[in-house]
Amino acid sequence: MKFRHLVVSSLVAGSTVYAQTQSLWGQCGGIGYTGATQCAGGSACSTLNAYYFQCVPQPTTSSTSTTTTAVTTTTTSRTTTTTTTTTPITTTSSTTLSRTTTTTSTTTSSRTTTTTSTTSSTRTTTSSSPATQPTGTILDCLNSKSVPQALPGSSSFTFEARGFNLRLPFTPAAIAMPTTVPQVQAAVLCGVQYKLKITAKAGGHSYANHGIGGENGHLMINMKYFNSVTLDTTTNIATIGPGARLGNVAQALYNQGKRAISHGTCPGVGIGGHVLHGGYGYSSHTRGLALDWLIEAQVVVINGTIVTASATQNSDLFWALRGAGGSYGIVVSMKFNTFPAPDSNVVYNYSYNWNQAQARTSLEALQAYANSTQFPRELNLRFWVGVYNVQVVGVYYGDRSTFDAAISPLLSKFGTPASSSVSVMNWLNSLNNYAYATMSPPIDYDYFAKSLMTTQLSPAAMDAFVAYWFNTAKSVGRSWYMMIDLHGGPTSYIGSITGDAGGAYAHRNATFKYQFYDSVYSGSYPSDGFGFLNGWVNTVTSISQNTTWGMYINYADPTLPSAEYGNDYWRVSYPRLRSIKSLYDPDDVFYNPQAVQPL
Ligand SMILES: Cc1cc2nc3c(=O)[nH]c(=O)nc-3n(C[C@H](O)[C@H](O)[C@H](O)COP(=O)(O)OP(=O)(O)OC[C@H]3O[C@@H](n4cnc5c(N)ncnc54)[C@H](O)[C@@H]3O)c2cc1C
Repeated sequence: MKFRHLVVSSLVAGSTVYAQTQSLWGQCGGIGYTGATQCAGGSACSTLNAYYFQCVPQPTTSSTSTTTTAVTTTTTSRTTTTTTTTTPITTTSSTTLSRTTTTTSTTTSSRTTTTTSTTSSTRTTTSSSPATQPTGTILDCLNSKSVPQALPGSSSFTFEARGFNLRLPFTPAAIAMPTTVPQVQAAVLCGVQYKLKITAKAGGHSYANHGIGGENGHLMINMKYFNSVTLDTTTNIATIGPGARLGNVAQALYNQGKRAISHGTCPGVGIGGHVLHGGYGYSSHTRGLALDWLIEAQVVVINGTIVTASATQNSDLFWALRGAGGSYGIVVSMKFNTFPAPDSNVVYNYSYNWNQAQARTSLEALQAYANSTQFPRELNLRFWVGVYNVQVVGVYYGDRSTFDAAISPLLSKFGTPASSSVSVMNWLNSLNNYAYATMSPPIDYDYFAKSLMTTQLSPAAMDAFVAYWFNTAKSVGRSWYMMIDLHGGPTSYIGSITGDAGGAYAHRNATFKYQFYDSVYSGSYPSDGFGFLNGWVNTVTSISQNTTWGMYINYADPTLPSAEYGNDYWRVSYPRLRSIKSLYDPDDVFYNPQAVQPL
């Protein structure tokens, strides 16, 4: 028999307790409850059949005509109707906004109530003494609304609560595993009712494990089952669930119509977190960020309703979602424009063993090239810096001869490569090439990572940056890498988008985008490790004006001071993001330690 329900109570060890099953009551340890034991001090009674099982006090009934007691859990029925209302929203700054809200649930379920029915059809109300009145839990609430869960204590809970970064283990209060939008709505209402912070998890690849909450005790709504990818071959608009992984998205769009969106390299990354906070990859200089292809999102907001966000509906929310999407609700579906997947992808790699002086010269040449119109939009380029060498890697969308002409002015500044390779591939093979592991499931590590976005490095900052690279990083003795992407500049697609069209992503004028990544493959990340990467970033930030640098939330660094992360990640967008947060989530329920704060 499976125990489907549980109720928390404060119990005295050894007291007589009853377990609630599908529809029956029975004493723990009694017939039909093999494996269950008496509760001890209010803790879980036992785990049975992979279901978390707790006990409640024996109910007392006021009925005198009860013959056989069958206590059922009833939940206020929900009427599912769809209405569309337009509600004026007045902000604190007296701006009146108009929000169109699609309401799916018109009746909000109330707390689970316990009633007792009898075989003689006499219906009586059951009550426990006030001291032992079951209070119910978030798990009860989800259960009463038929929201699937990974139950605490089960192997699936352990699996779903595991984040990509093993350095930051967090335990949610509950994990909802919805398969339908109404279940997401119900889960949000339960989280609000039980005053929990609510967090969506899509692919679970946040560097700070923000998809698990970034701290203990959240209601995690796992969107993994919202993973469909459907291309409308007439409009070339794709509808994608937030739980789809980048590898699945790329393959599905290609297979359904040879279409694509721009996105990052790792196939295991969830499209949900990726697109809501940026989404940079080898096509971004040519085709922008993943969020630049988003045209609409359906969002379950704090009152459990579904809001459509697009350029024409709730455009404030749409703006905020494109850069800070984890702070406003649970995105359940997204629509994207797509582009034709290019047939000819020139994939290249030139490897150099530079000394410090050559590295300094090359970095300066890179910056000059990125800021010139010599750098064609079709060229995407990254310095991949490791302990032993630098690889100049990327993709050119076009034919081989135009690629050679485009890159040769830059390569001429770099000296002779130790090795090189250039291949022309189709779109999917080029993605595979940079997946560094085929389109396969994710692997997790214990690591620390940081990012940096800079406009123009001053000569002094460049000196300090390269000196740290050669004098400190090369001798630190750990497995680090650092990437410098040609992100912006006059020919970049990213930089070409201006104003509200670009959403809340605030780094469009950044020439370089850096990622610093340091990991251990066994054991724990060393406590003195953080200073190494922080020191590298400080070489630039300590001598640059604040206006010339920022950080990328998709490479979240949980060690940033709480007073700083908002400005680091969102820069000029942050004040407006806070205003919109106050409209949509004034009580800061969609929270993580680095979420947008309401005003
Ligand atoms: C191995 C690896 C490779 C990477 N490569 C790249 C890359 O090439 N380019 C790049 O730009 N980034 C890259 N990233 C970073 C990645 O884009 C971000 O970490 C991204 O946020 C992960 O999304 P996720 O859905 O997998 O993570 P999650 O941890 O599930 O979510 C991340 C954040 O998004 C929120 N969120 C997720 N789903 C929803 C939703 N449905 N509604 C509302 N909020 C939601 C979460 O609450 C959380 O705050 C990489 C990360 C890893 C670990």
